[in-house]
Amino acid sequence: MIEAPGAIGAGLVGLTAYGAAYPRAHLFGPIVCRTNWPDKLAITFDDGPNPAITPKLLDLLAKHKARATFFLVGKFVHECPGLTKEILARGHALGNHTDTHPNLFLCGSRKTEEELRRCTDVIHRAAGVEPRWFRPPFGFRSPWLGEIVKRHGMGTVMWTLIPGDWRAKPAGWLINRMNPIAENARKKLPPGTGYGGGLTGDILCLHDGYHRHLNGDRAHTLAALEYWLPRWGDLGLEFVTMDETVSKTVEA
Ligand SMILES: [Zn+2]
Repeated sequence: MIEAPGAIGAGLVGLTAYGAAYPRAHLFGPIVCRTNWPDKLAITFDDGPNPAITPKLLDLLAKHKARATFFLVGKFVHECPGLTKEILARGHALGNHTDTHPNLFLCGSRKTEEELRRCTDVIHRAAGVEPRWFRPPFGFRSPWLGEIVKRHGMGTVMWTLIPGDWRAKPAGWLINRMNPIAENARKKLPPGTGYGGGLTGDILCLHDGYHRHLNGDRAHTLAALEYWLPRWGDLGLEFVTMDETVSKTVEA
């Protein structure tokens, strides 16, 4: 039975990796990964603010009366306080995506706390509000993250769909990858019947920035939204912020 300890070890590693990265795993504390109504779509953007894309994105969203949630990286908020303020002024919600975008699974509790606090502080300085929502970089969580997020008065938000808009693929590829949103909307599932009987609306994870530097190219993300926003509107979807779709601070 020499394999047994190894097998158990591999199992634990596997379980930990599952809890760290799988968007709907609750191993490391409660998370929000759906909206509370099938017709409510929460569009979320990570890794901004990005002067090259975010202003164009704000105009596109306004054209389609869409509100969204922006999970901002503190170091970019520091560079672009005016743009941060504008995102909020135009009706969107600001979320915390850490200060420097580390893999939190590899950070201790002190470093994790510092990353969250710095991001909240710089958002508060720029826009006068403290974020209520948090998204971990790369989707990686850790055993101590849930408690720290809670202490900062936030809820962790994952997603139902992450189409991979950071990949260097043609816009058509990304448009296809976003098909499930329309497919779900066409099903018109009554509340409580989709996704295993839980909350039913989609949370879409896109990127208006690139976590390594400012001015990352996200033209395909814009093009895909230009294609989908009017079509989603025709299907009866309403585009909401996390604040508008989750009544409690943290809802599993
Ligand atoms: Zn990110």
